[in-house]
Amino acid sequence: MSNQVTVIPGDGVGPECISAAQRIIDAAGVDIEWDHQEAGESVFRRGIASGVPQETIDSITRTRLVLKGPLGTPVGFGEKSANVTLRKLFETYANIRPVRELPGVSTRYSGSGVDLVVVRENVEDLYAGIEHMQTPGVAQCLKLISNKGSEKIARTAFEFARSEGRKSVVCATKSNIMKLTEGELKRTFERVALEYPDIESHHMIIDNAAHQLVKRPEQFDVIVTTNMNGDILSDLTSALVGGLGFAPSANLGSGVAIFEAVHGSAPKYAGKNAINPTAVILSSVMMLKHMQHFDAAETIENALFATLQKGVLTGDVVGYDRGTSTTDFASAIIDNLGESVDGYTIRRGRPLAMPAPVANPVTVVAEQRRVVGVDVFVESGLMPHELGPLLDGLVESSPLRLKMISNRGTKVYPDGNSNIDVVDHYRCRFVLREDGEQTRAGIRDLLSTIEGDVDWVHIELLQEFDGAAAYTKAQGED
Ligand code: NAP
Repeated sequence: MSNQVTVIPGDGVGPECISAAQRIIDAAGVDIEWDHQEAGESVFRRGIASGVPQETIDSITRTRLVLKGPLGTPVGFGEKSANVTLRKLFETYANIRPVRELPGVSTRYSGSGVDLVVVRENVEDLYAGIEHMQTPGVAQCLKLISNKGSEKIARTAFEFARSEGRKSVVCATKSNIMKLTEGELKRTFERVALEYPDIESHHMIIDNAAHQLVKRPEQFDVIVTTNMNGDILSDLTSALVGGLGFAPSANLGSGVAIFEAVHGSAPKYAGKNAINPTAVILSSVMMLKHMQHFDAAETIENALFATLQKGVLTGDVVGYDRGTSTTDFASAIIDNLGESVDGYTIRRGRPLAMPAPVANPVTVVAEQRRVVGVDVFVESGLMPHELGPLLDGLVESSPLRLKMISNRGTKVYPDGNSNIDVVDHYRCRFVLREDGEQTRAGIRDLLSTIEGDVDWVHIELLQEFDGAAAYTKAQGED
C-alpha cells in the first residue's frame, strides 16, 4: 500500500489537531507523504458551493486515504455540508466510531470497562439531503434506506466485529415506527446475521439503545445503525469516555478511507492551543492500522494511554484554566513513545474485509407488482370536512376512489380525528375501485381531473410487490 495521504487540516480547531497528529506520526517513524489540500469554510468563501474543490477531489482519487480535520457547515439554506459531500462523493458508506474507557480520564463510568463501536450507515437515510418545501409552511425530507445499503452496513458491522475479535453486534433501529425504512435495516441485519453464527446478535429499538447506553454501556460491543441514529448515538457514546475530545472515526467504503474526529470545528477554541487533539490522534491510529502499520499504531496508542495516565490532560478534562496545551500534549505523547499502561491492551485487529459494491442497481426483484392506487399530496387551505367532499365529487367517475385523507400522517377524513391542528398539506389516498383497472394512465387522468380545483404538490404510487403492500397505513386508517 502507498504511503501517500491527503491531509485536510479543516476549520476551527482542525489545523491544531491535525498538526499534533502529524508530529506524532512523524516521531513514531512512519514515513508518510502528506498531500495538503483544502475543504470547508475557506472553499465556500471562494464560491465553491460543495465546499470541496477539484484539486482535493483529484488528490483523494489518487491517494485513496484522507486524514481530515473537522469542516464547518453553514447552517440554513444554500450550501451543503462539505463533510457529507466527501462521504458521498467517495461512497464511504460505513462510519466506524469506537470509544473506550481511557486511563487517567475519570468519568462517571470509570471502571465499567466501556469499549464499544458504533457502525453508522454513512450515505443514506435523511442525509441523502433530499428536501423540499411542500407548501410555504411545510418542509419535507426524504428518508431513503436501500436493501443494498443495509446489506453493506450490516455486513461491515459483522466483518468489523470479526476483525477486532469482538463478540456481539446489536442492530439499533426505529423499525417499530418506520416499518419500511428503519425496518429494512432490521430485516437485512437479521438475514445477514445468519452468516455470522460465531457472533451474537440481536435487535434493539433505538430509544432503548440510548437508554441502555447511559444505564449500562458495558453491555455493548458493536452497534450498527442508520445514519441519523448513528450520528446522535455516537456523540452520546463519546461522552461515556470523556467527551468529543476522545472520539475518533473512520469513514470506509470499498475504495477511499477518510479518518477524522467525531467532533466538529469547535470554533470557540480555534487558535487558542487548548483543544484536546486525542480524537484526531486516535483517528490517525485507525488510519495507520488501515495502512497496515500495526506496530506504529500500537506504539502511538500506548504512548497516548501512558500520557493520559500520567495526568497530562487538556482543558476539556481538567478545566481550561489548568489544562495542558494542545502542543504540549502532543509533545508529551512523543516523549512517551515506547511506553505502555498495564491492563490496557491494544486491539491490533486484522485488515477489515469491506463488502464490495454490486454493479447491478437492482438487488431485490418482485415477481409480481401491481399499482393499486396513489397518494396525492395537496396544498390546501380548506378544512378536511370541506376538502373531502370536494375530492369525492371530483373523482365520482374515475376508476379510483378517495379512501381517506391524512394530515401529517393522521387520518382526518372521513370520520377523522377532530383534535388534529391541521396544516395546509394533505395526503389524499386514492385506491382502485373494485372493478377499476390498474393503469398509470388512470392516475394521470385523476391528476388532471382534480388539478383545476386542488393544487397537488407530489404523488406516491401505491404498489404491491408479490402481493404485499409496499406502503404503510395512516394513523387511524383501516
Ligand atoms: P463541535 O465542533 O463538535 O463542538 C461542540 C462542543 O464539543 C465544543 O463546544 C466542546 O464542548 C466539545 N468539543 C468538540 N471538540 C472537542 C475537542 N477536540 N476537545 C474538547 N472538547 C471538544 O460541534 P458544533 O459546535 O455543533 O459544530 C461546530 C461546526 O463543526 C459546525 O459548523 C458543524 O457543522 C461542524 N461539524 C463538523 C464535523 C465534521 O467535520 N466531521 C462534525 C460535527 C460538526 P464545550 O463547549 O463543552 O467545551
